[in-house]
Amino acid sequence: MTATDRYDLVIIGSGPGGYVAAVRAAQLGLKTACIEKSPRLGGVCLNVGCIPSKALLDSSEYYHLARDHFAEHGIKTGRLSLDLAALLSRKDQVVSDLTDSVRNLLKGNRVEIIHGKARLTGNQQVEVAAEKQNKRILQGNSILLATGSEPVEVPGMRFDGERIVSSTEALAFDTVPKQLGIVGGGYIGLELGSVWMRLGARVTVIEMLPKIATTLDGQVGRALDRILKKQGLEFQLNTRVISAKPTAKKVKVTLQKDGQQTGMTFDRLLVAVGRKPLTQGLGIQDVGIETDPKTGHIIVSPDYETSVKGIYAIGDLTYGPMLAHKASAEGIAAVEGIAGLAGEVNYDAIPSVIYTWPEVASVGLTEEAVKEKGVPYCVGSYPFSGTGRARCMGEKEGFVKLITHGKTDRIMGVHIIGPRAADMIAECVLALEFGASSEDIARTVHGHPTFAEALQEAAMAVRKCSIYAS
Ligand SMILES: Cc1cc2nc3c(=O)[nH]c(=O)nc-3n(C[C@H](O)[C@H](O)[C@H](O)COP(=O)(O)OP(=O)(O)OC[C@H]3O[C@@H](n4cnc5c(N)ncnc54)[C@H](O)[C@@H]3O)c2cc1C
Repeated sequence: MTATDRYDLVIIGSGPGGYVAAVRAAQLGLKTACIEKSPRLGGVCLNVGCIPSKALLDSSEYYHLARDHFAEHGIKTGRLSLDLAALLSRKDQVVSDLTDSVRNLLKGNRVEIIHGKARLTGNQQVEVAAEKQNKRILQGNSILLATGSEPVEVPGMRFDGERIVSSTEALAFDTVPKQLGIVGGGYIGLELGSVWMRLGARVTVIEMLPKIATTLDGQVGRALDRILKKQGLEFQLNTRVISAKPTAKKVKVTLQKDGQQTGMTFDRLLVAVGRKPLTQGLGIQDVGIETDPKTGHIIVSPDYETSVKGIYAIGDLTYGPMLAHKASAEGIAAVEGIAGLAGEVNYDAIPSVIYTWPEVASVGLTEEAVKEKGVPYCVGSYPFSGTGRARCMGEKEGFVKLITHGKTDRIMGVHIIGPRAADMIAECVLALEFGASSEDIARTVHGHPTFAEALQEAAMAVRKCSIYAS
C-alpha cells in the first residue's frame, strides 16, 4: 500500500451526508477520500431525489398557473402547450449543474474523489472496485459510511422500470400517463402525484392507512387532504394493493378494501411505500457491524460510531427521518467528533417539508403528540387568507399553527400549510433551537406584506391578542 492510499478519513457515499462530511473533514485538516459508485456525485438527493423532484414541481406549477390562473391576473396565454421533453431536460440540466458543483466543491477542498463500489474488507480497510480498473485498497484511520437508502419493493408489485416503477423512473416518464396509480400516500407519492396531475394525468393515490401523510399534525393533514382533493388528486384510503400485473401498455391492480376486492387499471403504477437503508455489498456483516434486524438500519452511538470501533455511519443508513438536511447535519457532527470537537444534532428541531402546493412544513411536536405526553399546551393559529401578501398572490388556502407549553409559553411545535411554508419554517426551527416562546415571535417585527406575518399572528393568537383575527 502506498502513502496515497492511507487517509485520516475514508467516506463511502457522496450524498448530502457523505459530501458535506467530506468538506467539513477537509476544513478540519483531515486527509479525506470520498468513494462513490455512481459516475455522478451528490447521491439520491441531487440525482433522483430532492432536486429533480423539486425541479419538476416548480415547472409543473408554472404550467398549472399559466393554464389555470394567469387569466385571473389579466394575462392571456392563448393556446398553451406542454413540451415535456424540454421540461425534463431542464430538470436534467439543474441536476447536472448541481452535481458538477459538488465535484468542484470536493476538489476545491482537496478531497480525493474515488469512483467505484466500496466494500469493507477488514480492520479499517476499504476495497474499491471500478470497471476496467484494478481493485484498490484504502486504509482509513476512520471510516464513515454514508451509502443512503433505496426504495422498498413490495412482493406482488416488483419494479419493472416501465409499468411498475419507483420514484426514480417517475421523475422521467417520457409521456404524461393518462392514468397514474400511486401506492403510498407519503411525501414522495404526494409530490410526484402533484407533478403528473398538474401536467394532465388522472392520479389515484392508494393508501392502506385511513389518512395520507400520517406523520403530520392531524389538523394540517386533514387540510392537505381536502386541498389536494380539490386540485384533483384522488385518494383510495384504507385500501391495500394485493397485486399488480403489467401488460404491454397498462398495469392491472387488485385492491382490497373492507374485505372486498376490486380492480383498477393504470398506465403506470408508482410504488412509493418507503425506503430502506442501502447496505448491500458493503461488507458490514463481514466486519461485524450491528444492524437492526427489523429495519436494516445501522446501529450507532450518539457520536455515530457503529459497533465496530473507528467505523461511523450517518444519514439514511441510520435511524431518524430520511432527509437530506438530517444526513448533512449528522455528517458534520460525526466528522467534528472524529476530529476531537463536540459536534451534535438536535433531533427535536429537524424540519420536514412536503413540496405540494400549498407547501406543508413542520418542526417539533404535533398536537396529537403533545396530548399523548399529557403536557399542558396552548394553540394559536392564523389563516394565510388574513395576510395581505397571500391576497396579492391569490393564495387563499392554508394556515399556521403554533403549539406552546401551557405554563411556560415555550414553543413545542409549529405546523404550516401554505405558500412558501418550506422557507417560513426556518424561523420556527431557530425558535425551537433557542427555546423561544410565542411571545418572542409575537414581539419580533415581521416585514409587511409577507407570508411570515401569518406566523406572527399565530404567535399572538396563543395569548388571544392577534390583531387581525376576528
Ligand atoms: C423522490 C425523492 C425526493 C426527495 N425529496 C427530499 C426533499 O425534498 N428533502 C429532503 O430533505 N430529502 C428528500 N429526499 C430524501 C433524500 O434524498 C435522502 O434523505 C438523502 O439523499 C440521504 O442522504 P445520504 O447521504 O444518507 O444518502 P444518499 O443521498 O442516498 O447517497 C448515498 C450515496 O452512496 C453511494 N453508494 C451506495 N453504496 C455504495 C458503495 N458500496 N460504494 C460506493 N458508493 C456507494 C450511492 O450511489 C449514493 O450516491 C427525497 C428522496 C427521494 C427518493
